[in-house]
Amino acid sequence: MDQCKRINIHISEDVERLIEERLILREDLQNVIYNAETSGKKLTHPFSCRSLAYCRPKAVSYWVEYSRINDDYQVHSAYSHRMVMKSSGSTKEWVKSGGDSEWLCNLCQVPLEVQTVRLQYMQSIFPINLPACSLCGFILIDEKLATGKLAEAEQALEDK
Ligand SMILES: [Zn+2]
Repeated sequence: MDQCKRINIHISEDVERLIEERLILREDLQNVIYNAETSGKKLTHPFSCRSLAYCRPKAVSYWVEYSRINDDYQVHSAYSHRMVMKSSGSTKEWVKSGGDSEWLCNLCQVPLEVQTVRLQYMQSIFPINLPACSLCGFILIDEKLATGKLAEAEQALEDK
C-alpha cells in the first residue's frame, strides 16, 4: 500500500477540520483516491468534473469527493460510515423509483438511478431507496445520508 503515499492531496483548512472531527486520516483519503484511480471504480460528476469514490479497508467505508489537478488531487469532502451496502440478488430485481442522480458510474458510463437496495449493519437489514448503477451495482451513499440517518441508525443499533 506504499503506492498510496505517492498520491499528493490538497486539503483546505475547512476540510482538514472536517476530517479531523470525523476521525478520517490523510492515509484514508490517499487510499481511497489511489484505489479509485487505479481501478476506475468511482463516480464522476459531469458538470463539476469531480469524482466520488469509497474504499472499505476495515469495518469502515471511507468516501472521498475530489478532483484532479494536474498530478495532484484536491479533496472537497470526506465522510465515513460503518453500514455495509448490500445488493441482494441481481441488480435486475431492484425496483426503480424513477428518480435519477447527477453522478455517473465511471466504469459503466451510465447515470445512477434511484432504486431499492439493502443496507446491512450487524444482523439488521434495511431496504432503502438510493442512487445506484444498474449495471455493476455501485451504490452511492451520499454525505447527508452517511452523517445523518446512517450515523443515527448505527448508534441506535449499538445502544440496543
Ligand atoms: Zn456501474
